Amino acid sequence: MPSSRTPRWSVRTRILAAILAVTALSMAGAGLTAHLVQRDRVLHEIDERLLTRVEAVRSVVAGGEATDVTGPDATDATATETAPFAPHATTREALQAVFSRVLPERYESSLGVIDGKAALVSAIDVDVHLEDDPALVDRVVNEVSDGSVRLGTYVGPLGALRYVATPVTVEGDPQQGVYLAAFDIDAELRDSTSSFTTYAVVAAVGLVAVGLVGWLVAGRLLRPLRDLRDAASRISAADLTERIPVQGNDDLSGLTSTVNMMLDRIDGAVNAQKQLLNDVRHELKTPITIIHGQLEVADPEDPADVRNAIAIAIDELDRMSALVDEIEFLADSQQAGVNRSPVDIRDLTEQVFAKASTNGNHEWNLAEFAEVVCMLDVGRITQAWLQLADNAAKYSPEGSPISMGSRVGDGDVVEFWVADQGPGIPKDMEERIFERFGRVGANRGVQGSGLGLPIVATIANAHGGRVTLHSSPVGSRFGIEIPLVQEVVE
Ligand code: ADP
Repeated sequence: MPSSRTPRWSVRTRILAAILAVTALSMAGAGLTAHLVQRDRVLHEIDERLLTRVEAVRSVVAGGEATDVTGPDATDATATETAPFAPHATTREALQAVFSRVLPERYESSLGVIDGKAALVSAIDVDVHLEDDPALVDRVVNEVSDGSVRLGTYVGPLGALRYVATPVTVEGDPQQGVYLAAFDIDAELRDSTSSFTTYAVVAAVGLVAVGLVGWLVAGRLLRPLRDLRDAASRISAADLTERIPVQGNDDLSGLTSTVNMMLDRIDGAVNAQKQLLNDVRHELKTPITIIHGQLEVADPEDPADVRNAIAIAIDELDRMSALVDEIEFLADSQQAGVNRSPVDIRDLTEQVFAKASTNGNHEWNLAEFAEVVCMLDVGRITQAWLQLADNAAKYSPEGSPISMGSRVGDGDVVEFWVADQGPGIPKDMEERIFERFGRVGANRGVQGSGLGLPIVATIANAHGGRVTLHSSPVGSRFGIEIPLVQEVVE
């Protein structure tokens, strides 16, 4: 069935997208702020320059020099008092004097207006001709009709202009004059706009560089994850042997090691399962073959033969049933956790000894007991210890003595032991008997499944301990060593 899920972005793409988004936002923020600050400064400067024009105009109209009024106090030019002394005879003359002394700067234009009509322009060639826009002229004439200086912004066919209009009048002349000075805002801002454009280009190049480096670095850092994914998809239940190469010493290589360890455990568990299945198949084959053979050759007409076949079949079925019980038990021991509680070892020793010694075929002897309290699963330890006692009773001659005891051994362990005077374990079988279905020779005529000692070993391991064995031809001594997790001396 085709997947309806939309394809998700890879981690690499998402990391890169996040880096680029943050970088782009920071760059845009920084650039925009710088641009706005710069723009603000330019506009402020325009206003300052325009206000110096007002002072200059007043000074000229009053008969002073234009250059005298361009100092710091020039900004205080919005005052509208008329000069006490006017050396010019007419308004036109006064304006002409202004035009000859106050020269427009770069991006500045000026216009002299008399009685609402554009009358004088600067001799210097300017980019913007204010006289070309009658609407502007009308506007400023209106604005200064009350005799005040006006600073304003005008957007018209000539572009965006920042202007100052100063009324110019001469006593005795009814003509109303206006000196209009205006700066082309767009032209003034062009420098800062072009530096902003340069910044934007440099930022874009920087962003591409960040993207490129980020893509490579993210790819490099995430390579172990991709290797991990590839290896994980290659590994199947059929072949769990592959391990992922660990490179470096960081959290990703730590993850790889952890996955490898997990694969080890899964591999071990799967192998153990396979082994168990093989063992069980093998062990069940024998009784099945025997039952099958007996039933096949039994003569139905011969009651004695039938009885014999039935007896053998029942015996073999009993063995199979015991085997299944023990397999189940072994599986339980491997799966179930250890339920620890403080246990008085002296009490435990006496209780286990009392149970074991109910087997009247031997001479039982309680040799020693440890006087400690230990954290352990009392049910499982009892079961394991009784299994050792049962083996000792099974494999040693009837009537022979069997000793039991507990003691605190070297390395802070408590040991539960059973010693018999049986035939012992041949050296080459000492490991094999702890494996499932591992039995010595022809089992010395004793029935068993070969699962008892593996169960004991599993219980010891689950407690963090081990099973010990000292064997000679005149007897065996099996012990279960459990670390003393908690010890209280009585
Ligand atoms: P089982 O007793 O069912 O065969 P175990 O796992 O308990 O299985 O024991 C494995 C083998 O170890 C036994 O078959 C026996 O050959 C040997 N064994 C165990 N305990 C003793 C003992 N005390 N003395 C001699 N041999 C023993």
